[in-house]
Amino acid sequence: MTGRHDALPPLREVINRYGLRAQKSLGQNFLLDLNLTGRIARVPGPLAGCAVYEVGPGPGGLTRALLEEGASRVIAVERDARCLDALADIARAYGDEGRLRIYNDDALNVTETALIAPEPGEEVRIVANLPYNVGTALLIRWLTADPWPPWYKSLTLMFQREVAERIVAKPGGKTYGRLSVLAQWRAKPRIAFTVPSSAFTPPPKVASAIVHIEPAPPLDAGLDLRSLEKTVEAAFGQRRKMLRASLKALTSAPETLIRAAGLDPTQRAETLSVADFVRLARCYQDRAQGPAGD
Ligand code: SAM
Repeated sequence: MTGRHDALPPLREVINRYGLRAQKSLGQNFLLDLNLTGRIARVPGPLAGCAVYEVGPGPGGLTRALLEEGASRVIAVERDARCLDALADIARAYGDEGRLRIYNDDALNVTETALIAPEPGEEVRIVANLPYNVGTALLIRWLTADPWPPWYKSLTLMFQREVAERIVAKPGGKTYGRLSVLAQWRAKPRIAFTVPSSAFTPPPKVASAIVHIEPAPPLDAGLDLRSLEKTVEAAFGQRRKMLRASLKALTSAPETLIRAAGLDPTQRAETLSVADFVRLARCYQDRAQGPAGD
């Protein structure tokens, strides 16, 4: 613990001082309870020696916690220029050695690895209370990183609870879908804990949850991501239909493909396990690349 916390004013005061009235268009729901931000910062495990990438630090409640938990450096991208002075105060409180670097930019437009510039062997962890309007887009970007294992060691992210449940969903229910398969075929996601809407200022309409995701070896190292994405998109694009109908979007001979993967053409997408999807996509890929193509 570095304990510089005490040198900084309470977040409510920071918000008043710099006029940081929350803007809905920027997905601003701030966390002002430093016990809670500390709990989030501890989810990835010890941060000593890690570079942490944070999207949307806002007034800096989570940023303070990441520094307090010992991150060797924090690199943060915040779109709202109004927050920069508050963040500069945190950078000053945590020392001159540049432990906190802030970029005033849109996280969707930056090349993270160029901003972070990890040292050889340095672990990078992503920890963020994401703006809800860009959260899923960023998650998909990070889950579809190439090469794999990716440039980061883990993701610890706040989502609306309903999105969190989709990420970790098992087959057989309505929440299981494209996001579940993308998140589970080469990573291990779990819900670390749920966060009531009353924990935010202002409170959003729905509850949230912290999801922790660690990259893992792919279920099939020879499968390319694009084949899996196309297969999953076709299958869930018409999730109430049987595979033999929904996969017409993918191939002119869906039944042959489905049987080649050892599946039943009358199954619906939500009954397939992640391993089933990986097999199906691999059959699709092999056929698409084979002499006949499809
Ligand atoms: N991390 C702070 C906290 O926990 O109190 C703020 C979280 S708030 C849910 C989301 C933050 O992301 C806001 O500060 C908002 O200005 C910022 N933001 C919104 N869209 C962004 C974008 N495209 N790129 C970077 N930051 C963004």
